[in-house]
Amino acid sequence: MTTPAWLETLDQRVAQRTDRASVVLYILAIWPVLAILWLLQWAPMLNLGAAQAFDARWWPVLQAGHGAVLLWMALWALWLWPRRLDPAPDALAVQAVLLPTMLGLVILALGMGIKDTPMGMFLLITFVVGRGLFSMAQMRVGLWACLVLMLAHEAAQLLDWLPYAFLLHRPVYVGEALTPWWSLWLRLTALLALLPLSGVLFLLAWLLQRRQRALKSLVLSDALTGLANRRAFMGQLAREAHRQVRHERPLSILIMDIDHFKQINDRWGHAVGDDVLRQLGQLLRQHTRERIDLVARYGGEEFVVLLPDTDLVGAQAVAEKLAVRLREHPFVAKGQRFQVSMSLGVVQYTGGDPDQALRVADRNLYAAKARGRDCIVASMVPQAA
Ligand code: GH3
Ligand code: MG
Ligand code: MG
Repeated sequence: MTTPAWLETLDQRVAQRTDRASVVLYILAIWPVLAILWLLQWAPMLNLGAAQAFDARWWPVLQAGHGAVLLWMALWALWLWPRRLDPAPDALAVQAVLLPTMLGLVILALGMGIKDTPMGMFLLITFVVGRGLFSMAQMRVGLWACLVLMLAHEAAQLLDWLPYAFLLHRPVYVGEALTPWWSLWLRLTALLALLPLSGVLFLLAWLLQRRQRALKSLVLSDALTGLANRRAFMGQLAREAHRQVRHERPLSILIMDIDHFKQINDRWGHAVGDDVLRQLGQLLRQHTRERIDLVARYGGEEFVVLLPDTDLVGAQAVAEKLAVRLREHPFVAKGQRFQVSMSLGVVQYTGGDPDQALRVADRNLYAAKARGRDCIVASMVPQAA
């Protein structure tokens, strides 16, 4: 499944974590939610039975303050939008947007009643989105400020300086049936909080999973040749060995080492040596079964191939074919052609410790070297070490 372009871009922005792009994303995520909340607070003007509910002294302050935060965020978004790709650190923009939104939402949540309305969820959205986009160090001031504000509010309530849900004439729930407006308001705000929160959490989980996959493939592949690396090979060998024993299917291993590779490096240079390794990797992949056999770079100029469902005779044939293909492959450096050969050790795994089979394959490889190189030594059963 292909990833839509906007998700790719979002993934990149979140991964890069540059201040300006993060602030723009934060505003894009939070602003619409805050704007809808602000619009809902105009209800007293519409005679929906909400007028008595808001505290008449606080309501104008609430609307003006809430509106000012929205305007402030919109101005920052307009200023930052053309600069969103600029990676320069911008601590001012981060704090100038984070602090008013976090503190504003704390005031709103406490003022509307944090225990009987969905307002606490809006706080959670800001924290989750904020933490997804910014570092803990960047969030710290805002989080501490929120905590201090909440504790101060608790103290003011204990001392009877402030009533519960101080922005309202009376709390949403007072033990009576809800007025139609508050009942609607509760449902709307719960939805308004739940939808973006779930969206953000799903998105973060998806981004994390994607990053984990990328990291895993990085850990299991060889940087030079793009083949599987030794770690990937060892894992696959253990799995295939297990399968082979269970299904009584043959499994063979080839291990190969380029002959006199040091001379290639010495004569043509390290870069040409690297290119030989890359080309050999490609050649091995071309001449083995895609998605069935596993070709891996085992170490410097040593490669391994895992051949499931292949007995020793079959593995020897594959080894022969690969050796011939390499011998025939025209390598070119500085306008001159040269040839490369390799020695191979082959073993068929027949049970027991797969590492032991690998050791025997290695021993066969060194026997091939001892026989004068450019040849194959194969053996059936892993002998005792
Ligand atoms: P033999 O036929 O006995 O295998 O001789 P050899 O020269 O191939 O083997 P030796 O072990 O003496 O040398 C291996 C060389 O491979 C030495 C090392 O510098 C080189 N090598 C290992 N990894 C890399 C690599 O990633 N790139 C390049 N260019 N050379 C590498
Ligand atoms: Mg070698
Ligand atoms: Mg070697």
